[in-house]
Amino acid sequence: MPAAPDPGRPPGDGRLLTDGRVVTPRGVLNPGWIRLAGNLIDAVGTGDPPERVAPERPAVDLRGQWVLPGFVDMHVHGGGGASFTEGTEDDARKVAEFHRAQGTTSMLASLVTAPLAELEARAAMLARLADAGVIAGLHLEGPFLSPARRGAQDPRYMIAPDVAVFERLHAAARGHLRVITLAPELPGALAVIQAATRVGVIVAIGHTDATADVTVAAIDVGATHATHLFNGMRPPHHREPGAAGALLDRSEVTCEVIADGVHLHDIVVRLAARAAGPGRLVLVSDAMAAAGMPDGRYQLGSMRVTVAGGVARLQEDRAAIAGSTATLADVVRHAIAAGLPVPDVAAAASTTPARVLGLAGRTGALSPGLAADLVVCDDDFRPRAVMRQGQWLAGPAGY
Ligand SMILES: [Zn+2]
Repeated sequence: MPAAPDPGRPPGDGRLLTDGRVVTPRGVLNPGWIRLAGNLIDAVGTGDPPERVAPERPAVDLRGQWVLPGFVDMHVHGGGGASFTEGTEDDARKVAEFHRAQGTTSMLASLVTAPLAELEARAAMLARLADAGVIAGLHLEGPFLSPARRGAQDPRYMIAPDVAVFERLHAAARGHLRVITLAPELPGALAVIQAATRVGVIVAIGHTDATADVTVAAIDVGATHATHLFNGMRPPHHREPGAAGALLDRSEVTCEVIADGVHLHDIVVRLAARAAGPGRLVLVSDAMAAAGMPDGRYQLGSMRVTVAGGVARLQEDRAAIAGSTATLADVVRHAIAAGLPVPDVAAAASTTPARVLGLAGRTGALSPGLAADLVVCDDDFRPRAVMRQGQWLAGPAGY
């Protein structure tokens, strides 16, 4: 016979985090508390926490530190010296582990343009990690991109959009392909946009030389996301606002920004945030292997990259920035320092990307019923402890 539930015991498993500055979709609770139930958030509140009836589990006193929802990064190539774009399955696990310890509790694995057979093989390998819950799915940043806006990607393997090729890559990912970035001005792009949206893959516009009109046509047939807005696009002009202008203008489009202080001027970050609003802005890291590592030489797919002063550039073309060396936590900290309100930053780093990826019922906010995915940050928004699905991953002893 199971024991009858103790009527005096609150629901949840007795674990309680108290005295945090808890950032919820309805504002910052200060002081706020979070009650856990297994791997879920059971309740969130402000003021006096619920009475303690689990003396074997003392409440964790957060001493006024910030509590943000675990970050959801839609655009990650690597980190901690390893990559999704090359190397083994173990390397890919290392990337996920590195970013998780920095607060990114959900992430897509982003591939760059490569020969098709290689993309297929990597998609199949990463699909296994998605099955295992290590990553939330895949993002194909290529191969249907414009050489004119190639950034750090290898133009030798860029090809015109082709529905049959898309279907091969989609099949290799076994249902885990979430996002494909393409250039809508290329011949065949509209057919691929329609094929992708039909099977539930988000079409993102990026690495594109498209005009505003061409971009509008792509949105009209189903593109809903912007890959690192402004980067890898023709610069907006007041008579030709380009892809960036058109994407920002449309209310159904969510816009990634790499607010790391390198890829975009802070004024542009603020303008984009105001224009998009907190429900459409998505902060991403676009991190490559060098994130969390010293300056030196790294790979991004087939391209050689040199990192100096924390800025990654192509070895062959020093003008091309090659992804970032930032974690999403670094981007969050920079966006707040640039003047974005903390709740808007939490929306852009967690809630909105979770919604875009169809994960809003599972994670992305400090709300009852969602996974206990959270990041405890100090006053400077440096991550001090990370919880994923109710388990502390990183943080001082005693948490
Ligand atoms: Zn990228």
